Amino acid sequence: MSKKYKLLKTLTIRELKEICRRYGLRGYSKLRQKELAHFVAKSLDLSTEEIEKLVSSFWDDRLISKVKDAEDYFLMDNVEIEYFDEDFIKAQLGRHEVKIINLGKKDFRYYCDCDDYKYQVKRGKYPFCKHYSAVIAKLIYEGKLDVKKTQPNFISGKVLDSLEEIVENRRREDGIIMPLGRDIENSLKNIKKDLVEISKQNEELARKKYHEPPEKVFEYLVDQAFQLLEYETITQRREQGWDLLVIGTYAPKPYIAVVECKTAKSGIYDHLLHNPNYLIRLKNYCIEMCKEKLIGGFKDYVKYMVIVAPDFPEEIVKFQSQFKQMTGGIELSFLPAPTLLYMVEKYRENPILTHYISESIFKRGGIIKNDDVDKLFSKSEEHIQSIIEDVRDSLRYHMNEVCQRHTDACYIKIDDTFLKRIIDKIISTLDPYLLKQGKDGVTGMKTINIKHDYYKLWEKVLNAVIEDFTERLKEQSTLQIKKSDLKENIIKQLGI
Ligand SMILES: [Zn+2]
Repeated sequence: MSKKYKLLKTLTIRELKEICRRYGLRGYSKLRQKELAHFVAKSLDLSTEEIEKLVSSFWDDRLISKVKDAEDYFLMDNVEIEYFDEDFIKAQLGRHEVKIINLGKKDFRYYCDCDDYKYQVKRGKYPFCKHYSAVIAKLIYEGKLDVKKTQPNFISGKVLDSLEEIVENRRREDGIIMPLGRDIENSLKNIKKDLVEISKQNEELARKKYHEPPEKVFEYLVDQAFQLLEYETITQRREQGWDLLVIGTYAPKPYIAVVECKTAKSGIYDHLLHNPNYLIRLKNYCIEMCKEKLIGGFKDYVKYMVIVAPDFPEEIVKFQSQFKQMTGGIELSFLPAPTLLYMVEKYRENPILTHYISESIFKRGGIIKNDDVDKLFSKSEEHIQSIIEDVRDSLRYHMNEVCQRHTDACYIKIDDTFLKRIIDKIISTLDPYLLKQGKDGVTGMKTINIKHDYYKLWEKVLNAVIEDFTERLKEQSTLQIKKSDLKENIIKQLGI
């Protein structure tokens, strides 16, 4: 048995086929796993070392996805280290128990009571189950394991990097380390490059770059896209149910869109046409698994359901009214990935959409088109212009009042009370679109919450205010001939 074959034999059919595709080998489609490994060993023009590298990169990817599977356990704090010393570790993960003996040493052994351990690890298909990596993550998190001194068995290189990344995320969520801030540039770059490709189930891209199946990567990218539109989002941590909740927190009346992400190899998602019963499942996502779990007024926030997929056949819109009837009024929209991308790109160039205005894209239901996105932007532009006009009117009105009565050749004189009145007036004009006024629950003091994501809109409004204010000063400067108080005093004292 050649060494090349021995190495290649450890890969799955899918991985072997991917190698064939990547290196342009032909005539492999009917071969079974072992035959395929032979075929690749024979036909692939690479040295043993190169094949070793290639195979280990596949293994890395596989182990990284194992590590990622551990993330849910670990992030939800479901790992408890019950015993820990140099030679023996015992941990509880929900209903599973993990025992590790001699971690980091040659005579290392570990046990888990899960099926994965029984069928995959013991048979040598995988070196460890997700519970093992979750325990290692927890040990690092608690400072019990220093990977610079003790390398956990089977977890090294890229695999270790991804495990440490998970620990880092947890520390961030727990506020132990400060977040570095949002990485807007990077997520935008990934979405531009990969969103549409991943929606069409590009396996290789998903696995190589994100170490997850395309379905999962698509959910992740759609989540990122809505975040780039400044929505708050909640991702599903369970296997079942909706994928994502998109929350229009900033709207005067907040709303929630329940999002389901669907990839389709053909580029068109038409599953619903062949299986209309799927509508019942979608209804469950919105009603039983979301709306009914919320309390009181929060229930009314659940108003929209959005399916995101590469594209949709036109006939699919016929389900919209049916769905609305089944759910007691929830509007169903179909959002093609390229349209979502279009919206994100347009928004990042010109961030003028508010949750209030954007809601209209979900309100209509049906397939959302680029055209609808364009309309949204012009609507937003009109809306901000009308806010600007209101602010200007109120500023002009008050300035006029003060200029007529309290102005001389040098000053416009404004007292405290009057100043407060102007500012209050302007603030109420901006409420609720650019800020929200309220009262502190404890002190009862008036508070103003400024919506920082709307910085572009603020820029427009404040510039308009500045322009108006300086114009008024200029006007008074050219108009006023009334003597200043100082001048008048001096004249009096000189007796002229
Ligand atoms: Zn296990």
